[in-house]
Amino acid sequence: MAQQITTQSVIELDDAWGAHNYHPLPVVIAEAEGAWVTDVEGRRYLDFLSGYSALNFGHRHPALIAAAHEQLDRLTLTSRAFHNDRFGAFCRDLAALTGTEMVLTMNTGAEAVESAIKVARKWAYEVKGVAFDSAEIIVATNNFHGRTTTIVSFSDDPAAHDNYGPFTPGFITVPYGDAQAVRDAMGPNTAAVLMEPIQGEAGVVVPPEGFWSDVRQACDENNVLLVADEIQSGLARTGKLFALDHENVRADLYTLGKALGGGIIPVSAVVGRRDVLGVLKPGQHGSTFGGYPVAAAVGHAVVDLLSTGEFQERATELGHHLHKRLGELIGQGVAEVRGRGLWAGVDIDPAAKTGREVSMALRDQGVLCKETHERTLRMAPPLVITADEIDHAVDALAAALDA
Ligand SMILES: *Cc1c(COP(=O)(O)O)cnc(C)c1O
Repeated sequence: MAQQITTQSVIELDDAWGAHNYHPLPVVIAEAEGAWVTDVEGRRYLDFLSGYSALNFGHRHPALIAAAHEQLDRLTLTSRAFHNDRFGAFCRDLAALTGTEMVLTMNTGAEAVESAIKVARKWAYEVKGVAFDSAEIIVATNNFHGRTTTIVSFSDDPAAHDNYGPFTPGFITVPYGDAQAVRDAMGPNTAAVLMEPIQGEAGVVVPPEGFWSDVRQACDENNVLLVADEIQSGLARTGKLFALDHENVRADLYTLGKALGGGIIPVSAVVGRRDVLGVLKPGQHGSTFGGYPVAAAVGHAVVDLLSTGEFQERATELGHHLHKRLGELIGQGVAEVRGRGLWAGVDIDPAAKTGREVSMALRDQGVLCKETHERTLRMAPPLVITADEIDHAVDALAAALDA
């Protein structure tokens, strides 16, 4: 007979059988719709994390669920050994949406970043003429680009990096937001600059104004590719399609993921210049599931949602509201608020509580979000949220800081 499912019984099961590589809040979600989730005991919570921006369109957006269902009833996987009737149209419309010329499909964000690194290196050897095996990629302090061995090779977060060596060489780290340091790090072997336009995991860190146009200029002058990791910042989160759009800067390659799969399946991509992605020839890179028919169907429906501009507008307008309301808490237990659009890093006053304590108190108030590092809450509600729901969450934060 099935045992009754309770929060406690699920947590015990997870702890007993799942690897302990996460430290979840003690809440067990069983159902969700839009901006709301329901736990196994019937309690409802406002989702203020959105799966780290994988759920930009909310839980189970009807258009995305319909696209997935329709595809599941017709064709799921072909591998790229054969053509299928979904792939090309998805790539065409994703390129049109992003103003790019070519699309390389993968599954997870980390794979998109890995792919961009491989393409940048190949471009450096075959097009730029960098000496074999000596290409360099400039990255930032406090970066987060995923969890593969190569990617953690250039992470300076000890938890992400330590004891996973030997590491992949070829990366140069400079302080995030320092354009002169990026320029100074460039040499004849530099293939690319790879950075997040706004650093998510680091606590929603926005670089100084002018940083991106200065980096773009340094890249142009030194024949270096600019690779923007928009996996978390992109696809309407900040109020524009790309966070880089706020600076009127174009990257040569963009990595996309998270929201591209509509919160349903993992879909990622590298999009960008044809003369750069064009270095890949048959057999030189790939993925069994990359761009498979279900991914193409869901990704295409995501592209359709983003084409209307509605979500970008919501993120802009509601983002102003969120930041105005959060600003009122500065000095009331909040030390600093950063971010853009519906994305905020909220530093808790060190004299008040830890991020974990505030996350727990917020859960008790019916709002789910998660700390990043000791003292920062990352807030990223689904873009379908309403102004009233934002007020509800900020009031809950005020109460949580008081509790
Ligand atoms: C989440 C994230 C990744 C990694 O994506 P996964 O799907 O977890 O592999 C890479 N870059 C950034 C900026 C991210 O936020």
